[in-house]
Amino acid sequence: MLPSTKQPTFATAAGVLGLMALLGGGTLLMHLRDKPPDPKVLALAAPHCSDSTATSPAATEPFSIAVQAESATLPEDLEHKIAVGAEAAYAQWREWLGDDALLHSRINIRFVGDDQQFRQIYGKPNADDWTTTGFYRMRSNEALILYTPEYQPLALGNAFHEISHLVTAAHLGATPPWLNEGLAEYYETLDVVDDDVRFAKNPLHIQLLRRRGALSVDAMTTLSRKEWMQEDAQRRYASAWSFISFMLHSEDGRRTLQRVVQQAYSQRCAARPDLRKTLADYPGGLQALESDWVAWLRDNLRVEATAPIDQAL
Ligand SMILES: [Zn+2]
Repeated sequence: MLPSTKQPTFATAAGVLGLMALLGGGTLLMHLRDKPPDPKVLALAAPHCSDSTATSPAATEPFSIAVQAESATLPEDLEHKIAVGAEAAYAQWREWLGDDALLHSRINIRFVGDDQQFRQIYGKPNADDWTTTGFYRMRSNEALILYTPEYQPLALGNAFHEISHLVTAAHLGATPPWLNEGLAEYYETLDVVDDDVRFAKNPLHIQLLRRRGALSVDAMTTLSRKEWMQEDAQRRYASAWSFISFMLHSEDGRRTLQRVVQQAYSQRCAARPDLRKTLADYPGGLQALESDWVAWLRDNLRVEATAPIDQAL
């Protein structure tokens, strides 16, 4: 069994992130991709790199979240679940960066129940190959989530995913996709039970990893955003999800991930921060990191091994 991820309560308003991959009624819904802003936009949005008022470090307002429904009726407990997840995520960021660096802001979550309206808001009302079910906007500090009947079972997870991107970008600016997407996937899959969040295993990611293996650490951490989003991205998302899960559920992993996040914070104005040196500070170096991850995959997810690097992309 994996340990619970129960976190201390974040003592202010309604909270933010959590996660869960809720597969409704036995129906397998593919997790469709989100569309984060350009990394250059993220760098500009990072604290101390711009005049961003939405996430100003000097803000005195407590962290809060507002949930809106547009052309949709939301279940009564959705807002509560988002608050619980958000509190857990903020507790994690507080542990990583400390109170002084933690940004307090108001995040708006907009659930949109009409597909056409969602595309309109995104700015592509006539797109044919539409796969986006959630996206976020730094400028307005909001996440937009598609809430048509088909995607309602995934909406909470999608919201957690996009909120994670907002919080990560606000604190770190541009980050490599393995970290940014790995964190978002991790929070997306968290399960909310009453007032707690618990780590949950993402069945689609596990299925894929068992079939094809995860990327190597080396391959995964050298991919650019453009390379990450190329065809067959699902394997990269699955790899990053399991990598962040491993890091957060092992002692050396937690310590190393905290140093990585702190390193990213110190480089938050850089367009392409290099975090691999910090990763290599893992006890035993990158080789030990890789082998511990492989062992974790085997022991916790019954995934046997990572695939050869030449199959990485
Ligand atoms: Zn994402």
